[in-house]
Order: sequence, then C-alpha cells, then structure tokens
Amino acid sequence: MNHSSNQENLKNKIYNGVRISPLEASSLFSWDLIELGAAADARRIMAFPSEQVGFIIDRIINYTNICDAACDFCAYHAGANPAGPYELSIDEILAKIQELVSVGGTQVMLQGGLHPHYTLDTYVNMVKTVKRNFPQIYLHSFSPSEIVHISRKSLVSIDEVISTLKSAGLDSVPGASDLLVDRIRSKVSPRKIAKQDWVGVMFALHRHGMKSSATMTYGMGETCEERIEHLNVIRDIQDKTGILRAFIPWSFSPANTKLKDIQPATGVDYLRIVAISRIFLDNVTFIQAGWLTEGLKLAQIALTMGANDMGGVLMEEKVVKATGIETKSGISEFIDIIKNSGKIPVLRDSEYNKIRIY
Ligand code: SF4
Repeated sequence: MNHSSNQENLKNKIYNGVRISPLEASSLFSWDLIELGAAADARRIMAFPSEQVGFIIDRIINYTNICDAACDFCAYHAGANPAGPYELSIDEILAKIQELVSVGGTQVMLQGGLHPHYTLDTYVNMVKTVKRNFPQIYLHSFSPSEIVHISRKSLVSIDEVISTLKSAGLDSVPGASDLLVDRIRSKVSPRKIAKQDWVGVMFALHRHGMKSSATMTYGMGETCEERIEHLNVIRDIQDKTGILRAFIPWSFSPANTKLKDIQPATGVDYLRIVAISRIFLDNVTFIQAGWLTEGLKLAQIALTMGANDMGGVLMEEKVVKATGIETKSGISEFIDIIKNSGKIPVLRDSEYNKIRIY
C-alpha cells in the first residue's frame, strides 16, 4: 500500500472513532498541521460533544525548592536557582490560601522539591492544617515523585502513604509525568522516579479511590516514537484504572536549566502534540491547553485542535517562572481568550463540575 492510501486509511479510522496504534500515531507527525488539527477536533467532539471550555481558579504553592533529585531539566530546585534555597512555613502557606479564597479560588496545588528531611508527618501536618483552616479548599497536591520520596524517607509502603494522606484530607494527586521513557529519564532526571514507579503510584491511587491526571514534558531530546511511547503508558493506565481526569502536555523550557543548549520546541510542535494526544488518547475526556508554557494565544489555537480545557487561572507558580516564563493571567483574560476562539467559557471545580457559564 502506498503512502497516500495509508494516510487515507488512517484518516478513515480517526473520523470513525477507531482506536489507532502507536505506529499509526507516529505517522501523524508528518501530517499537514491543519488536516491533523481538524482530525483532532473531530475526535474531541466524539470525546466531549460540547463547545464549553472549562477553567478553574487555583493556586500552586511551591512549599520548598530544596530537592534531592536536582534534575537537569529543572530551573526551580535550589541548586539551579540563583535565589537560593527556601522553605515556606505553614503560616506562609495559609496566608497564600487566604488570598486565593478571597478571589473565589477553589483548588490548591501544594508542590515542592524532594526535601531530604521531610517525612510523612511533615506532609500530613501540611494537609491537616490546610484542611482545618480551609475545609472548602480542594487539595489537588503533591506528585508521584513526592509520594515515592515520602515512602522511601519514612520507610512505609506507597499504599500507606496514600491512605494516610487521604485520611488527612488530600483530595487528589496530579500525575506530573515528565516523559515516561526511561532512556530520557535516566539522562535528565536519574534521581527522580522511573517509569515503573510512576505506574505503581497510579495503581496505588486507584486502589484508594483517588483521581489523578497525566502530563507530558516534551522537547528533551526524545524521538517522535518516544513521545508516542509516553502517550501509550498513559492510555494503558487509563484503560486499566480510569483515574485520569485530564491530560496536560507542555514543552520543555530549557532556559536556566542544565539543558539550556537544547533548542526549544516550536509552537507548531506544540499544536501537533495536542492534536496527536487527542487522537491517540481516546479514553481521556479533558485535554488542557497549556497556556502556562505556551502562552495564551497558542493555547487559544489549541482549543480548536483537540484541547477542551484551559486549566487553572494560577495565582502563583514558581517552577515555570524559574525558566524565565512570565505567568500572569486573569479571569477576564481567560474568558476573552475562550470566547474569541468561538467557545463557551465555564468556571469549573476540580472534579470538572460546572460552577458558572459565561
Ligand atoms: S523537577 Fe522536581 S524532582 Fe526534579 S529537581 Fe525539580 S523539583 Fe526536584
């Protein structure tokens, strides 16, 4: 079969809602961008037959940048950050949440480095204190790396870490996935968890009835096939657990990291990743447009090529900011961006329930 009839067959599969193979997904990287975006939008309509685009008012609180892992791709950890090490006190964390609550925010993402002295008690205390003071706040916090770190530091099982944090008040765990390809992980983050550890945390969260999400950081020297390998891990986990509420791809920002000589991924790369993710991940309802790293204007275009959520109107974020990217945004700007893409803005909660339609 020649190249064009292969492409025609694949196009038919996509428009008929048939699951595509990893090999077929790899071939999408050579498609014309507009044709790819249209196919992804057709799949978005099958997964989510609505023109509504959600967003949430949240705050990321990076509680410490002291980190045992010191990944090469990270500009945030204390060793890479010219501002030096810091740790937020519980009072500082509470003050930040109070600011969030006063502007109508509903979700907090506590995320930090793998601090060598933090144990399960440290995290339980953080969660309990936040929930005692702000019972209405949804804690979508920590990450699989932090869960594994706690388990190793406190010599307790992953299941025990999760059940203890859940009892303390943790609501869900973002699936910060980086790139789930061990060839790349062993090069850029050898001290962070391996792919199998990430998978293990996902199954453990599922056993405890907790939801998660998946992300993708691409542009760290991986091949197109390895990008699909990452998506395949996610599709498989979702088939087996159904715990992923959303998928969020973003490009690696090399500035201020040890990998600063890598050429940053382009806007076209980003749109291709969004579109291919939407087509390949036929079991994930929400794909977020990653305005945080790609900018609002590119995120807006992503909404027409497979994405259907804008994620958080973040009040604070230090990990991406450390790479020099400014992350200012506001509710009215979000609403304008969504409306101008022909969509309907919806303020939502962490479980993707609608709070207000604009
Ligand atoms: S990416 Fe996370 S684990 Fe790696 S150095 Fe940065 S804070 Fe630490």
